[in-house]
Amino acid sequence: MLEIYNPATDKHLLTIENDSKKEIANKFAKAKASLSHWSQTSLETRLTAIKKFRSAVVEQKSTLARILTNEMGKPISQSTQELNGLLTRIDFFLEETPKVLAVELVSDSAATVTEKISKEPLGVIANISAWNYPYFVGSNVFIPALLTGNTVLYKPSEFASITGTAITQLLHDSGIPEDVFVLVVGDGKVGEELLKLPFDGVFFTGSYATGKKINRAVSEHFTKVQLELGGKDPFYVCDDVEIKSAAASLADGAFYNNGQSCCSVERIYVHDSIYETFCTSFVEEVKKFVIGDPLNEKTYIGPLTQPAQIKFLESQVADAMAKGAKLVCGGKAMARAGNYFEPTVLTDVTHEMTVMKEESFGPIIGIQKVKDDLHAIQLMNDTAYGLTAGVYTLQEERAESILKQLNAGSVYWNVCDRVSPKLPWSGRGNSGMGCTLSHYGIETFLKVKAWHLKA
Ligand code: NAD
Repeated sequence: MLEIYNPATDKHLLTIENDSKKEIANKFAKAKASLSHWSQTSLETRLTAIKKFRSAVVEQKSTLARILTNEMGKPISQSTQELNGLLTRIDFFLEETPKVLAVELVSDSAATVTEKISKEPLGVIANISAWNYPYFVGSNVFIPALLTGNTVLYKPSEFASITGTAITQLLHDSGIPEDVFVLVVGDGKVGEELLKLPFDGVFFTGSYATGKKINRAVSEHFTKVQLELGGKDPFYVCDDVEIKSAAASLADGAFYNNGQSCCSVERIYVHDSIYETFCTSFVEEVKKFVIGDPLNEKTYIGPLTQPAQIKFLESQVADAMAKGAKLVCGGKAMARAGNYFEPTVLTDVTHEMTVMKEESFGPIIGIQKVKDDLHAIQLMNDTAYGLTAGVYTLQEERAESILKQLNAGSVYWNVCDRVSPKLPWSGRGNSGMGCTLSHYGIETFLKVKAWHLKA
């Protein structure tokens, strides 16, 4: 049984039954049986269904935002922003998929053998998803997967099951057949069971720890696997910046969605000549954040989604302080109902501390002093992760030189915590493998076929 609670109030919302082994097998069989029909429907039919889904999201935006806020505690303004971002992603996929699917003629007209490349769907896809951005991370997979003719078993996180059910309903109402997009409900055990089945592709978004298990489980079959995992994303503030604006931008990058974004700013390095001033400005920004009821439009920080996260964050604070860090603000759970944790800033931190090495995934940040660009680059790359990284400076050449040396899938100059549907989203090292978004994130759902034709 899944017991779902509102993380802002601790109120019980719903009990859902986990899918049984038999139900999972039946769902897989349904998706497998519907593959040949769905993959042969016209692209126009598939585009029309996704356009209808887009219209339904527009019509029901405020209801969908409330569902997410009640289930995972995301402030309502940020739930609405997530849905607006979903629309932009759908628009990108609607426009780009026909281009990606077009047959490529690669031989010239004088060739005796005509050569062309076509693309076919991978087959039956498992889409196992995280809870922090269910409308984003789910749709990065299921929209291009469906548009390219795959059938999908979609398992939302146990912390976003109501949201996942709402997404499924909307897709079915929009004309995606029930045996083409199939909801699987449950926790990690259900995910484990799912992966015993011979999928053609497994697309996972979640933690490094689970990603490792998934990679192992999938290696039993010849299955394509893609893993979008966590990060410990570093940013460097050079000595030439406009300090207040850099501090405001990075505070937003660290605390938006309560720090529960895969690309949240997790570590900040500041040139020692501006360290104290930057830290003061940064804390001023953090103190402006409105904390409270996530249904209130003015709220910027709501509760954490998972109650267990509070103990983990407290352990990072304790570890840092025991090793000499200074706690400038926050540091503990708030005395109120729900999973609230004070926005926390630690200075004088080092890489001996877990807060600078392990993904925090919460409202906490360490700010470390560095002596120059080289020192900053060396510390930024001192990580097992490689999702995003960036630099704040007024000098474009300096930025470019630093960004080239960072081992991360996405790099940023004077911005952070940003995802664009036109750019590939990928991690390196423990942040995963493969990518979603951009044309690469559509091609990943396809197999290529080489044609050699002699008249
Ligand atoms: P999680 O790993 O706990 O769970 C993710 C999903 O995996 C859930 O649906 C869960 O039920 C399922 N699962 C758990 N154990 C499983 C198993 N043994 N086999 C199969 N499925 C299993 O992660 P989470 O707490 O939902 O999400 C937070 C993590 O996701 C963070 O580390 C965050 O950085 C990462 N994330 C990464 C991206 C990205 O694009 N790189 C995006 C969002 C979140």
